[in-house]
Amino acid sequence: MSAPSLDLEISRAWLVDPASGREGPGEIVVRDGLLAAVTWLEGAATDGIGPDGVVVAPGFVDLHVHLREPGNEDAETVATGLAAAAHGGFTTVCAMPNTEPALDEPGVLSRIRAAAEASGSPVELLAYGAVTAGRAGEQLAALGELADAGVVGFSEDGLPTRSAPILRAALAYAGALGLPIVEHAEDLTLTADAEATDGRVATVLGLRGWPVAAEFAAVSRALALLADVRADVPGARLHVTHVSTAVSLELIREAKLRGLPVTCDVTPHHLALSDEWLAGSRRWSWDAIDDRGLARDPWADGALVGSPYSTSLRVNPPLRCAEDAVACLAALADGTADAVATDHAPHREVDKAVEFGLALNGISGIETALGVLLLAVDAGRLTLSRAIESLTTGPAAMLGGRTKRASAMGLLEGTPADLVVFDRSETWTVLPDGLASRGKNTPLIGMALPGRVLLTVAAGRLAYEAPEA
Ligand SMILES: [Zn+2]
Repeated sequence: MSAPSLDLEISRAWLVDPASGREGPGEIVVRDGLLAAVTWLEGAATDGIGPDGVVVAPGFVDLHVHLREPGNEDAETVATGLAAAAHGGFTTVCAMPNTEPALDEPGVLSRIRAAAEASGSPVELLAYGAVTAGRAGEQLAALGELADAGVVGFSEDGLPTRSAPILRAALAYAGALGLPIVEHAEDLTLTADAEATDGRVATVLGLRGWPVAAEFAAVSRALALLADVRADVPGARLHVTHVSTAVSLELIREAKLRGLPVTCDVTPHHLALSDEWLAGSRRWSWDAIDDRGLARDPWADGALVGSPYSTSLRVNPPLRCAEDAVACLAALADGTADAVATDHAPHREVDKAVEFGLALNGISGIETALGVLLLAVDAGRLTLSRAIESLTTGPAAMLGGRTKRASAMGLLEGTPADLVVFDRSETWTVLPDGLASRGKNTPLIGMALPGRVLLTVAAGRLAYEAPEA
């Protein structure tokens, strides 16, 4: 397949380059797929250009997606998942290995790479290998073979690494291979049959509680093992994905201060949504806390405008209270959280058209991530540059050299163009037909989000172009 050469000029835009720490009015020129020129404007030429209009940034990197292929192609395929990524502004995605069969040997990696190639998408598909054979939690998978085949780390995601001895061994083996363990932090002994985060909303709705302690205990265990392993294996590294509570983030903050090689990500839904949505609220987390930073009462406030028990809100970890959500935002702002990862989890309609507790966990989120982050920017909870960093250089740093994309280096002249162009002055409404993902399972259906993506360019090729508005 020969790639058409891309030529493009974007003048009078707001450029954000997290690699150089620079943002401001500028212009870019793409010639034959290469980022030929990045020009920062000065003086009178900058008149009328602001951060609230057209923005150009490096292509986004998502450390956590589920593409469902092989095994559950009715929910998503590699092709539809990559199309959804491009629509969301992402040019690199890292797929979780909980497919059927699990990605626990190089053959499965070859299959999804072939599917990506066949899709024709220029979005970079990276993948994690499973920690244990068949994700059964008993024996380590062939980590060395998987590393040779090119996985970017190991994870049991969907589940935690089951036992402490296996997590310990995995941190050591993966560390020796120069790869991180990406941990889904959940103590399963505390979450059996759990439905909603422990608290008033769960109690009033009659949903079984999912304690914050389940995440705290698992993060604590992983950090203790990391500290232990690191004495023998200096390369051991831990990445905790979808951290959702203030107390877990505090543990990670302390561990980083002690010099432990730990990184973490937070999801858009854990930043902006909270458990009161289960009762029918549709207000953002920062509007759901009072002046003292405590969660307000959605019943007393008359904040309940939607249907309760919407299964589109069932997710693991569960939506937490608003205090936790704003703590996740604060952790992202101060760098405790290194990245935003979407945990894009598309599901078939039938798997959500059941009672709350029986619905599969997950939100289809890669197409709405940018809009949700921009809402937090608009609310003053995050700077635009930090939001972009958390989608680009933040996750790229976790990947080290394992992404081959230029976006990891920012807006760099002479490299294959890998960037996103979006317009903050344009809102778009989230509708099922407008989503490229097969998974329409998002609680944001019908809502308007800022920052319509106009163009996504990956590896010098057009990955997405918005239809004329
Ligand atoms: Zn997970």
